[in-house]
Amino acid sequence: MYRMGQEELDEVRKVIEAKKLFMVGDPASGHQQEAARFEKEWAEKVGTDYCLLLSGGGTAALLCALAALGIGPGDEVIVPSYTFMASATAVLEAGAIPVIADVDETCLLDPEDVERKIGPNVKAIIPVHMVGMPCDMDRIMAIARKHDLKVIEDSCQCDGGGYKGKRTGSIGDIGAYSFNDYKILSCGEGGGFVTNDRTLYERAMVFSDSGAAFRPYAKDLTITPFLGFQFRPTELQGAILRVQLTRLEGILADLRRVKARIMGELEGAPGVRFMPSNDLEGDCGVICGFQFDAPEPAIAFSKVEGVDAWRPLDSAKHVYHTWDPIIEKRVGHHPDVNPYNHPKNQGLRTTVTRDMLPKSLDILGRTVFVALDPDWTDAKVTEVISACRNAAKSAAQTAEKEAART
Ligand SMILES: *Cc1c(COP(=O)(O)O)cnc(C)c1O
Repeated sequence: MYRMGQEELDEVRKVIEAKKLFMVGDPASGHQQEAARFEKEWAEKVGTDYCLLLSGGGTAALLCALAALGIGPGDEVIVPSYTFMASATAVLEAGAIPVIADVDETCLLDPEDVERKIGPNVKAIIPVHMVGMPCDMDRIMAIARKHDLKVIEDSCQCDGGGYKGKRTGSIGDIGAYSFNDYKILSCGEGGGFVTNDRTLYERAMVFSDSGAAFRPYAKDLTITPFLGFQFRPTELQGAILRVQLTRLEGILADLRRVKARIMGELEGAPGVRFMPSNDLEGDCGVICGFQFDAPEPAIAFSKVEGVDAWRPLDSAKHVYHTWDPIIEKRVGHHPDVNPYNHPKNQGLRTTVTRDMLPKSLDILGRTVFVALDPDWTDAKVTEVISACRNAAKSAAQTAEKEAART
């Protein structure tokens, strides 16, 4: 997805030539403050007061969010049934229990099921903006406020995306981003944590910097430091991401242009029904979603020629029924740090079975995502449109055959 080139090489070269790779250093000695500058620039871009760049990826950002909020044993956190497993594993790493809720027709967290799943031990909700698509944040925030719950937006697949004029990740109490190799922006591995809350920021900073031993502003802390992990980024990550950031709007504009053209030209075509969206303007355009009444036409459509298409149901590690370590409660390096064994977690909703959320499996099984590319030429988009038109026809024929058979 991401674009990368000479500009990143030039900036990385400068960091290496200055021989200042550690994130803390004196500008007077030639240290370029790349990581710290990226943190400031990313906070500005998404519209929050604070940002931390983390070497541990989006997973570290989620763990820092949970740690900042003081979530741990005895707590439940609601996560969606369709997300990369890290959204749920971060909850377990914090010692708490993930409670999995359904997705709705948008393939994103279903606010109605969130409300049904709220119980006395739920402390937070993690809406996940999957494949560049924003969740229904208005309803999720209203539910959270009504029940006094915290919201951690997992915007790892939605770097720079929007929802009703705001950037995803800036709407809840904390936002998490990923800059790994599969995301809209990349520095190989990296994560972003954002918030407007000074205390949450300081707690996350302390937690991610082995007790705030190194960050230069540790002296300004208003909280008492405590020991945590070590997720400091390198200057190389900061240098690459600062260039990546200059490419963001171009990537998003190109993806959105491709998606708008595909949707515009296929609207009303036989067999075509687009997946609903919570905000098409904010949608990053990473994919175009097509929906069907049954799995068979979706499977037929997913065989579309020359196009990268798949049912979300078939994406490994992204649907709860494939989360073997969670289903089998294999967590942690020692039985006593396995949250499923923790005394405070006994009596929480720890059981995950593969068939527990049939509504999610149904929706994810009759939806097809077509991957889009910001660098497609107009001629390539024309080809994709024509391939999708044919695939929709074949899906419609399959649906008719199924109807005749049953
Ligand atoms: C990629 C991803 C993560 C984790 O990010 P890493 O950088 O790989 O740690 C978390 N949640 C979602 C939805 C993701 O796609």
